[in-house]
Amino acid sequence: MGNFFTDVISTDSRFSSTTRVADPLLLEPVTRQLVQQIIDAAGNMGITIMIFETYRSQARQQELFNNGATKLRTVGVHRFGLACDIVRVVGGEPSWKGDFSFLGQLAHSSGLIWGGDWGDPTIKHSFVDSVHVQRCTVARQGDLFAGNFYPSNEYNPYTDDPHVLFAAAKMPAKGTGPRAKPRKARPGKTSA
Ligand SMILES: [Zn+2]
Repeated sequence: MGNFFTDVISTDSRFSSTTRVADPLLLEPVTRQLVQQIIDAAGNMGITIMIFETYRSQARQQELFNNGATKLRTVGVHRFGLACDIVRVVGGEPSWKGDFSFLGQLAHSSGLIWGGDWGDPTIKHSFVDSVHVQRCTVARQGDLFAGNFYPSNEYNPYTDDPHVLFAAAKMPAKGTGPRAKPRKARPGKTSA
């Protein structure tokens, strides 16, 4: 049986795109709906935010890695239409500045995992991405990437098996391949 990744993303012309995709239509429908809910709720709080990136191809991730813009060589949950990067809008431009804890609160109440705490603020995460939300626990990612898991419409990461919810996000092991010398960090721009 197919899912949004196999049926829609895999057949989309942007599947191997190396340019940034911000189209909400490449978000899995429930994720898309929850992201819109978060944008609306932030607006009601007086905070203007926008979708910066939805789908990301492996080709783009590799390019970002080569340019030193990310420490992750392999694309993650973005590739499956289940992750979205949401930034502030300041003067009509995307902005990564300021506190994004509001995004964590809105993500939590919408049923999305926030990259600022990966669903568990009690764990010290070595990798933090405060503009990132996803509809999948960190512990499910391995199965997602392997094609053994894709969330149903009813799936809620916060009611997922507790044993798999509380997994700390880890940085990739050091020295696992050639790595461009990181440029001056552009906070949070392209990570998970
Ligand atoms: Zn992200």
